[in-house]
Amino acid sequence: MNRRLFTKLCLGGAASMLIADDTINNKRDVEIFLTVDDGWNYKKTILEMANHYKVPLNLFIIGKVIEQDPKIWQDAMDKGHMLGSHTYNHHKLSRIDEETIATDFKQYKKCIISSLGNESFEKIKFFRYPYGDMGNKETKPTTKKMIEDSGWKTSWWNMDLSFASNSYGMRAYKDPHDQLSYFSKNLKSINVPLFHFKDPDAKAIELVIKYGLENGYKFSRLDSKRSFLKV
Ligand SMILES: [Zn+2]
Repeated sequence: MNRRLFTKLCLGGAASMLIADDTINNKRDVEIFLTVDDGWNYKKTILEMANHYKVPLNLFIIGKVIEQDPKIWQDAMDKGHMLGSHTYNHHKLSRIDEETIATDFKQYKKCIISSLGNESFEKIKFFRYPYGDMGNKETKPTTKKMIEDSGWKTSWWNMDLSFASNSYGMRAYKDPHDQLSYFSKNLKSINVPLFHFKDPDAKAIELVIKYGLENGYKFSRLDSKRSFLKV
């Protein structure tokens, strides 16, 4: 894998989503960072399925969702999946003020430490903006600083496999085979697909995993070069 590309993809802003367009020379060059956001539904289905295939997920779970059922997320981390921050309340950051954002960051930290412990909080290295909304003119720089001060890097995606855009705007996928088809047709050397804990994403993630494994592609965590270690 191209290290520079990986770093840009993980560190960069929205422009970095356009970077990973290099051609694939070798199947072993293909790396997939499965990212799954929010965490409301299909928790057990998605996590157990990924455990079955021994493929790591990069989980951007909302703080208040973790608080509802900490055990399942702690277990996911113990099994080798990566947990990233997705804020406590999942607000659109351009619609709230700096004080509310600062409170949200504090709530997130407090909730992770009380639900999962300090050690798990320290393992968080990535942040994903809810709705990809980086904030307005006032809140954008402050939020960016809060993310950096937390020691987190921003994680974007370069393939939205939850919502398809067409001339009418965005629409949720209905058939998981359409998600797989979009994935296989748009495959790059570095792939960061975005899924959510919803239907039909649960099925689509499995189709992508099976397709990737059959083709010898590598599934990775954003924060590590390790493969899936624990079962
Ligand atoms: Zn979200």
